[in-house]
Amino acid sequence: MKHTILVVEDERKLNTMIADYLKALEYGVVSAYNGIDAVKLFREHGPDLVVLDLMLPGIDGIDVIRKIRESSSTPIIMLTARAEETDKLMGLDSGADDYMTKPFSMKELAARIRAVLRRVEDRGRAPGREGSVLSLGHLVMDVSKRSVTKRGEVLKLTSLQFDILKYFMEQPGRVITRGDILEEIQEYGSEGYERTVDVHIKNIRKIIEDNPGEPEFILTVWGVGYKLAEEVE
Ligand code: CA
Repeated sequence: MKHTILVVEDERKLNTMIADYLKALEYGVVSAYNGIDAVKLFREHGPDLVVLDLMLPGIDGIDVIRKIRESSSTPIIMLTARAEETDKLMGLDSGADDYMTKPFSMKELAARIRAVLRRVEDRGRAPGREGSVLSLGHLVMDVSKRSVTKRGEVLKLTSLQFDILKYFMEQPGRVITRGDILEEIQEYGSEGYERTVDVHIKNIRKIIEDNPGEPEFILTVWGVGYKLAEEVE
């Protein structure tokens, strides 16, 4: 199946370079040169993945991520010109799945895209997992449908957040280190920052916990990492 990728980059030369490279790899490509068109074209084309520059004229990349996340969990790979950690964290915080720091090679970008798409396609396909439901208290995960509900209400998680939560829900009570999580999400191509793991956990807690400051599901194990509670009221 041919995948469509929305490429959002205001530097025309770079946008064309990415588009040409991806077309040569047989991807369908839709190009946007500003944030407003990005949101519009996303809605029109329903791409399988978004490559998104953060520094855009009009509405910036962070706002584009937020707008996309209002209705979709389509994977987003951000491009950031600045090597500043805050940009990346803000992007991840807003729901991006991965990031690349400029300058990057087209080959590396293509590898990240493949990894993310493979991950999405493997959803629910793992043998013996079909129809499997994991639950803890009022939090219920349907693995094959890739959906999570809390007291019956559907929660919006990115594909990366879903996979991290699944990793926890498969092994309640086990102490999980940041390194374990980094290994688990390696396929997403995320750079190995332990701080990045903390950001993902913080975001997941915001979604699943009633009070993220006093988590009931994903508990902190000081100096080591985290663990999923074995029981929740
Ligand atoms: Ca730019």
